[in-house]
Amino acid sequence: MDIRIELTKSPKAKPTDESNLGFGHIFTDHMFIMDYETGKGWHDARIVPYGPLDLMPSAMCLHYAQEVFEGLKAYRTANDEIQLFRPEENFKRLNVSNQRLVIPEIDPEFCVEALNKLVNIEKDWVPHTDGASLYIRPFIIACDPFLGVRPADTYKFIIILSPSGAYYSTGLNPVSIYVEQNYVRAVQGGMGFTKTGGNYAASLAGQDEAHKQNYSQVLWLDGIEKKYVEEVGSMNIFFIIDGELVTPELQGSILSGITRKSVIELAKSWGLKVSERRIAIQEVADAYDAGKLDEVFGTGTAAVISPVGTLKWGDKVMTINDNKIGPVSQRIYDTMTGMQYGKLEDKFGWIYKVTDK
Ligand SMILES: *Cc1c(COP(=O)(O)O)cnc(C)c1O
Repeated sequence: MDIRIELTKSPKAKPTDESNLGFGHIFTDHMFIMDYETGKGWHDARIVPYGPLDLMPSAMCLHYAQEVFEGLKAYRTANDEIQLFRPEENFKRLNVSNQRLVIPEIDPEFCVEALNKLVNIEKDWVPHTDGASLYIRPFIIACDPFLGVRPADTYKFIIILSPSGAYYSTGLNPVSIYVEQNYVRAVQGGMGFTKTGGNYAASLAGQDEAHKQNYSQVLWLDGIEKKYVEEVGSMNIFFIIDGELVTPELQGSILSGITRKSVIELAKSWGLKVSERRIAIQEVADAYDAGKLDEVFGTGTAAVISPVGTLKWGDKVMTINDNKIGPVSQRIYDTMTGMQYGKLEDKFGWIYKVTDK
């Protein structure tokens, strides 16, 4: 499929102060769009000026949440190359989400090519500051103007770009996490393994409660027994217990993070012991009491590694590694960000260089 390109006649001023970018406020000059219609397939791929969509108030995505999304980043290296991290994994995962929400699949290879074109056009928007990046948000929405409940016949696949500040401006500060015991995010058989807006809508009340208690994120437990650890807001979770990395197995209600997968591959390549298995919150508390809970960290595209300094479960407040980042968390963070920003060799073939092809 050809990609039609229509460049803006009124480019916006780029942010001059990169220390104040924040996350998700600023959007670049262009976006990628293609349309889908039953019988016709995906068509009319185009890069056009960023702006409002032509969408009816009756569009199905607005009523029944038939939508999926992805999140990844473009990084600028010291010699001004632009790099992506495992982008094909994001589009493969988008198809996993598509299947669950009965949305037509996309061609991951074509989407990587379209993303390369878009990021290349917008390359001056990729921040220069260490730790800052261009956040990439691909998404698909159901567009039929219809209020009945069924899978739609028309969709839009869109990619928008947003320059974002360094997640850690003052070093890797550990976060405080609150174990949610009332609300649940997802259950097996539901859509917890997909990236879809509904999962986030379901998480807001718990998140709100955590904020009221001065905790920054929620750790979800399984939706049935509320015994087993699942994941944090938009991060997977790892525990280092007696030297072994332990993370919940992918059993259908948690998201298969690309950072999670990369951390497992990296840790194994270093000869560390890693296990993906069911882990009860009681086991975490017992390890803590026995002095064997070495490190806890979240993993996700936004922060890469987010050390957990405080973990609150009911009345029990656990302070992990003196509320400081642990050595394994630091090593993983340095290695992953080193590859992403082109400071370290990529021995795994994870880096995709943006070109003007
Ligand atoms: C996106 C996301 C993650 C992290 O996935 P990455 O691919 O590592 O960014 C974890 N949990 C949820 C619920 C997510 O939406």
